[in-house]
Amino acid sequence: GDDLEIIEAAWGLGEAVVSGSVSPDNYVVKGDKITQKKIAKKEIMIVRDRKTRKTKKIDVPEDRKDAQVLTEPEIIKLAKLGKLVEEHYGKPQDIEWAVQGGEIYLLQSRPITTIQKREVKGDKASGEIILEGLGASPGVASGKVKIVKSMDTLDRVLDGDILVTKMTTPDMVPAMKRSAAIVTDEGGLTCHAAIVSRELGTPAVVGTKEATKVLQDEQVITVDGEMGHVMLGAVKKEAPEAKAEKGALPAIAVTKPITATEVKVNVSIPEAAERAKETMADGVGLLRIEHMILGLNTHPEVYMKSGRSGEYVDELVKGIRTVADAFYPKPVWVRTLDAPTDEFRAMKGGENEPFEHNPMLGMRGIRRDLRETEHFKLEMAAFKKLFEMGYDNIGIMLPLVQHPSELRRAKELMVEAGIDLDKVDVGIMVEIPASALVIDDFIKEGLDFVSFGTNDLTQYTLAVDRNNELVADLYNELHPAVLKLIEYVIGECNKAGVKTSICGQAGSRPDVAKRLVAMGITSISANIDAVEAVREMVARTEH
Ligand code: PEP
Ligand code: MG
Repeated sequence: GDDLEIIEAAWGLGEAVVSGSVSPDNYVVKGDKITQKKIAKKEIMIVRDRKTRKTKKIDVPEDRKDAQVLTEPEIIKLAKLGKLVEEHYGKPQDIEWAVQGGEIYLLQSRPITTIQKREVKGDKASGEIILEGLGASPGVASGKVKIVKSMDTLDRVLDGDILVTKMTTPDMVPAMKRSAAIVTDEGGLTCHAAIVSRELGTPAVVGTKEATKVLQDEQVITVDGEMGHVMLGAVKKEAPEAKAEKGALPAIAVTKPITATEVKVNVSIPEAAERAKETMADGVGLLRIEHMILGLNTHPEVYMKSGRSGEYVDELVKGIRTVADAFYPKPVWVRTLDAPTDEFRAMKGGENEPFEHNPMLGMRGIRRDLRETEHFKLEMAAFKKLFEMGYDNIGIMLPLVQHPSELRRAKELMVEAGIDLDKVDVGIMVEIPASALVIDDFIKEGLDFVSFGTNDLTQYTLAVDRNNELVADLYNELHPAVLKLIEYVIGECNKAGVKTSICGQAGSRPDVAKRLVAMGITSISANIDAVEAVREMVARTEH
C-alpha cells in the first residue's frame, strides 16, 4: 500500500530461497530509492547439474558468499517491473524472478493478501537490540532461549520458550507450537519457519545468520517479529492499548462480497483455526487430521498397543473441536486419516510401517483405514463424542476412495460406531480418476458431498508423481483431462443434488476458481492466504 517493495536475492536457482536453505540478501525499495540493504552470508546455492539434468546444492564460491547479489541498477529495474506487475493485477504481488546473462526473467506472480493484514501495528518493543534478522511473523514475545541443534533436544522447548535453531523442519512443528517466538539463523520470508509461524501467529525472526551462536541457552530475550529485532531481557511493550492477541488478526474494515458459491478455507493445524476464521470463510472444506496426529509424535499403533486408545481419541476430539468451535455453526468437513507410510515411519513407534515401492499408490487413505479398522474405529469414536457434545456442524470426508464399496463399508463402520448417518454429512474426496468416472455409482450408494483433491487427481490422471521434481513440468492441474473429469462429476452431482467442492491446491488459484464457478461447483476451499482473492474472483465470475 505504501509503495514499499521487498526484494530477496541469492545466487543460483530460487528454490534455495523458497525452501529457506539459504539466507538471501534483502533490499527494500521505496518509490525509486533503495532505503535498506541487508547483505546475507550465502552459504549454498542450487544449480543445474548438466550431467544428471537435475538440480544440485553446492557451496557458494568464497568470493561470492558475502557479496551483494544484485547491483543497484538491477534492484531498481526489478522494483520497476514489480510495480508494473502490481499495477496489472491491481494488488500487491509476490513475484519470483531470475537474472541470467543480464536479462531479468519474471517466473511467477501471485497476490499477497496476508502479510499486510497481519502486521500488528503498535505492538512494538524497545530495548537493547542484540541480534537482527527479517521480521517474518509479527508480534512481540519474551521468553527463555532454547537452542535446538538436533531433534532429540526438541523436548527441552517448553511452553513459552523461544525456539532458536538453524532452520525449522516439519518435525519441529510440535515444538514451534509451544514456542512464544521463533528465531532462526537461516531463511527468507517464504521459508518453512516463516510460513508455519504466520499460520500459528507466532512472532518470528528469520535469517539472523548467527542466532544459534550469539544467543545462549536459558537467556531471557524479547523477539519483535515485525521489526526483525531480538532484544536482551523481557522488554515491555510500548503500546499496551494496541494489544493484539497472539495469533489474532488485527481488526480491519473489509467488505466481503456475497457469493452464491461458498468460499471455504483449508486447515491443517488446529492452532490456525482462529486465523482461518478471520478470513470470514463459509466453513472449512478440508480439515486434515494427519498434522494433528504427526504432532503427537507417537504413532497411533503405540497408543493402541499400550491400552491408551482413549487418550488418542481425546487428542483427536481436542484438535477437531478447536476448529469446529471456531467455525460453529458453519460446516467443517473433517477428513479421515490419509497417512502415507513414508511420513508416518518417522514417528515414535513408526518403525513397523511397511516399505513400499510406491507409497503414493499404496497403503494410504481409506484403503488403509478399512484394513486397519481398529484405527478407523477410534476416529469414529472421536466423531461420536463430538456429535454428543453438540457439534452438528461436522461432516466426515473419506480420502482416496476408489470404489463405491469402500464408501459402503466405511458407512457400515460408522453405523456400528453409533453414528446417525441421517444427522451427519458424509462425503468422499474425488482424487482418483476411477471415482470420477463412476461417480454415478457413488451417488447411488448415497453421499452428501464430494470434494476434488486435485493434488492427487492431477498426479493419478497424468501419471505424474506430485513430489517428483523431475517430472514437475508435466504436473498440470489445468490439463484438459483433469478438467474434463471435474466437469463431468460436477454435472452428475448437480443433477442428483449432491454438493461439490474442491480442497486441492488448485482451489487456491483464482484462475481455476473462475472455471469451477462456470462449471457450477457448490463451494471452493482455499488456503488461508488465498481465500480473499478466490472470493473476489468467484464474485466477479458470478456477476
Ligand atoms: C489433494 O489430493 O488434493 C488433497 C487435498 O489431499 P492431500 O494433498 O492431503 O493429498
Ligand atoms: Mg489427496
